[in-house]
Amino acid sequence: MDGVTPADRNPLRTTTHRIGGRAYQGVAGRTGEVFDPATGRVAGRVDLADATVVDAAVAAAAEAFPRWRDTSLARRSAVLFAFREALFARQDELAALVTAEHGKVLSDAVGEVRRGLESVEFACGVPYLLRGGFTENASTGVDVHSIRQPLGVVGVISPFNFPAMVPLWFVPNAIACGNTVVLKPSEKDPSAANLLADWFAEAGLPAGVLNVVHGDREAVDRILVHPTVKAVSFVGSTPVARHVYETGTRAGKRVQALGGAKNHMVVLPDADLDLAADAAVSAGYGSAGERCMAVSVVVAVDPVGDDLVTRIADRIGRLTVGDGRRPGVEMGPLVTGAHRDRVASYLDAGRAAGAELVVDGRDHPVDGDGGGFWLGPTLFDRVTSAMSVYTDEIFGPVLSVVRVPTYAAAVELVNSNPYGNGTAIFTTDGGAARRYQNEVEVGMVGVNVPIPVPVAYYSFGGWKDSLFGHAHAYGPEGVDFYLRSKVVTTRWPTPSHPSAPTLNFPQN
Ligand code: NAD
Repeated sequence: MDGVTPADRNPLRTTTHRIGGRAYQGVAGRTGEVFDPATGRVAGRVDLADATVVDAAVAAAAEAFPRWRDTSLARRSAVLFAFREALFARQDELAALVTAEHGKVLSDAVGEVRRGLESVEFACGVPYLLRGGFTENASTGVDVHSIRQPLGVVGVISPFNFPAMVPLWFVPNAIACGNTVVLKPSEKDPSAANLLADWFAEAGLPAGVLNVVHGDREAVDRILVHPTVKAVSFVGSTPVARHVYETGTRAGKRVQALGGAKNHMVVLPDADLDLAADAAVSAGYGSAGERCMAVSVVVAVDPVGDDLVTRIADRIGRLTVGDGRRPGVEMGPLVTGAHRDRVASYLDAGRAAGAELVVDGRDHPVDGDGGGFWLGPTLFDRVTSAMSVYTDEIFGPVLSVVRVPTYAAAVELVNSNPYGNGTAIFTTDGGAARRYQNEVEVGMVGVNVPIPVPVAYYSFGGWKDSLFGHAHAYGPEGVDFYLRSKVVTTRWPTPSHPSAPTLNFPQN
């Protein structure tokens, strides 16, 4: 015996579901490919669930619910603290997995895990938010109190671009509130979700409280109509978010569906242009632009356009693009070849529409395998709101500069856009910044901060086509989403207050 199992000899690892605390034993009807984006090679396969598999996961979650609901808050917190310790201790392992399947550079993957860690830490304190209210003597001898209870089985459906962080936005809060979960991560980078489930199990989470089902539209559509699923948290593109919201709510579920974005960074004439150019490059090209809070439009208020474009282009020239596992690399590949080709198609579309292609990402040198899904940072100037490079969420390393004459024109542009996820203003004028945060119709606003992702004890969410439903993700709103309240009115009759029938509404 050499200690090598058949699975070890097979370089194509298959990621499968975790249901009721166990790896799924069935044979998948369909599987998908998981790529190493930095080489372009197929690195593994993922089982794609059909309705039967989803039903099994929901059944496991439903079976686990009564006991988990009645598990003390002290015990639930203890599990979350233990999970937090595992996540903290092994963050590099998780980050390496994210880089291997998503392509983002390792330091950025560590950053993603750290943001997820903050959500776990918030969830450790959720018992504080589960307190109800109590009113003594609301009427004579009558007390009233409120209780906050879990919903039951909840679905969490996450996108490819944050395979660790987005599940961590939802799962810890959902289970801290006493719910049980069916998580359906992106089929493009599925492994991080299984690692999280393993660590939750090691932390003492009972079997069935967190189940992971891998798959695509077929799995999602079953979750959306399954009668046992009470609520769905979704993050992804706007067309799918709209579909999830409409289908889920039609089936009687609570739904929060976070969608796509087109985030504008407004640069006023008094801004520090070096700071603004640094911010535009970090927020435009970090994670190859595959962030829902990426800046994709720089709004240059006259007369800063020429100067700002020069400074951004200069910085782009110094960026290192390559395999995210290599030290010093600042931007990795795109997630798949198909996505890279779609993003690259905007370079020709933008030029054909009359935009000025200042930096063509196809020419950028790459420190990596020739087969990787590469596209270097790209900069367009003199983009207008009629061009597809402006109207579409490209979700890649393509930054567009729109020039406007005034602050008012900048606000008008941002507010006319159908998306409203994030925005930033760069200025040294506190009054202008204050006015902008008041007037702009966007859910998350940065002042000299290009990616204003709220900390874990606030909540994350956009406006307009960037969020369907009213509840933002994580933080206090995220907790409210996973609870329903009950109000109890109590009277303990005493001999001194003999009861007698009355048909009137009680007065005092
Ligand atoms: P996506 O919409 O393609 O997929 C999201 C999830 O939905 C995945 O789990 C996928 O399997 C599933 N899915 C895909 N097509 C479906 C369909 N037709 N019906 C049902 N389910 C379907 O998104 P993506 O490409 O994985 O992620 C990128 C998108 O997510 C971008 O638009 C980005 O802006 C958005 N995003 C938004 C936020 C936010 O907080 N608003 C955060 C991260 C990503």
